[in-house]
Amino acid sequence: MPRLVMKFGGTSVADLERIKNAASKVRREVENGFDVIVIVSAMSGKTNELVGWVNQTSPMFDAREYDAIVSSGENVTAGLLALSLQEMGIPARSWQGWQVPLMTTSAHGAARIEEIPTDNLDAKFSEGMQVAVVAGFQGIADDGRITTLGRGGSDTTAVAFAAAFAATRCDIYTDVDGVYTTDPRIEDKARKLDKISYEEMLELASLGAKVLQTRSVELAMRFKVRLRVLSSFEDQTDNSGTLVCDEEEIMENKIVSGVAYSKDEAKMTLVSVADRPGIAAAIFSPLAAAGVNVDMIVQNISEDGRTDMTFSCPTDHVAKAEAAMEAAKASGEINFHGLIADRDVCKVSVVGIGMRSHAGVAAQMFEALSAEGVNIKVITTSEIKVSVLVDRKYMELAVQALHDTFGLETAA
Ligand code: ADP
Ligand code: ASP
Ligand code: MG
Repeated sequence: MPRLVMKFGGTSVADLERIKNAASKVRREVENGFDVIVIVSAMSGKTNELVGWVNQTSPMFDAREYDAIVSSGENVTAGLLALSLQEMGIPARSWQGWQVPLMTTSAHGAARIEEIPTDNLDAKFSEGMQVAVVAGFQGIADDGRITTLGRGGSDTTAVAFAAAFAATRCDIYTDVDGVYTTDPRIEDKARKLDKISYEEMLELASLGAKVLQTRSVELAMRFKVRLRVLSSFEDQTDNSGTLVCDEEEIMENKIVSGVAYSKDEAKMTLVSVADRPGIAAAIFSPLAAAGVNVDMIVQNISEDGRTDMTFSCPTDHVAKAEAAMEAAKASGEINFHGLIADRDVCKVSVVGIGMRSHAGVAAQMFEALSAEGVNIKVITTSEIKVSVLVDRKYMELAVQALHDTFGLETAA
């Protein structure tokens, strides 16, 4: 039997009615002749609630217990979906990560999948099981402890299963009917894309478009998984949703294909550091050692041998960054007059493979922002993206202005 992976996100399994709706979509694929592996998220809001309980109980929590707790939401939906399918007369069984077993690294809270043995599920499929409902987001490390794959990790579970079981497709059912030129919740004029390349989807995801977890797109690209994003609330046709695929399969080739934003950014400035050889290493080595995920970096021009160094990092890394810099100052490795953390910023980015061969995108982006009176604080570019840090209050305005200036509302 050909295999299909279907993944239902939190809003798609938010209550018993929606779980039944998901079950009927699975039934249709069983009727189409597939053995189906379904990956489920926790009911929407559940994981946030569990994370909140962890923080209230223990602010400096033990990461192994965090995973034991936050992985539990998926267990409930896996069991309920298996029961709903059984009620429809379909032989279905739930699987928690450890039962498969989905083996991961022991990086609790952000574990990486190492291996998915197929023999257990294969044996059950050959005994007549038609649907395996697998709890997403969770796995098990070598030492037998439960792990989780980072927020949004069920997408990655789904793609990894699709690769391991050589599935025909991996369908990601969510609360929007595909990947849009930008988040349709903040730009009414956002346009659904029929197809998007792995490279562009990877950039959009890593720059904040949470419709797919970044790691899931990396895996899909590496294992050439046919990945489709579609709505669990609408009826599908074969061409529904958005296919994430190789660049060669795409006809539409705009220079810019999407705009992403991330609110989870902070800007840190070290005021007046000595401008000498080795200063960047002296600052960024301790930050790296402390696990601070530094993204953008700017060094200002120096005056009298001193300069300001600015960098961005996720808001929840600010405390670690401050501690690392104060420690480096105390040990005499660096010296600075002040450390300013600005949490009221956001990152807005434009993405497109057309940028590889087309100059002027950055200039057009800056002009559009300037026309709206939006001040740019930090800039970074790569081959297929330009990102800027701006005040958080301008986020929607900036996204909309960029969507307009690059003509994303209409197809190429
Ligand atoms: P799920 O719970 O199904 O995993 P998520 O909330 O993680 O769903 O992801 C879907 C959300 O991603 C949408 O509701 C939408 O607001 C957001 N999103 C951000 N950028 C985009 C984009 N470019 N296209 C579609 N959705 C996007
Ligand atoms: N339930 C987890 C989360 O909210 C994983 C997921 O939904 O993908 O992050
Ligand atoms: Mg998600």
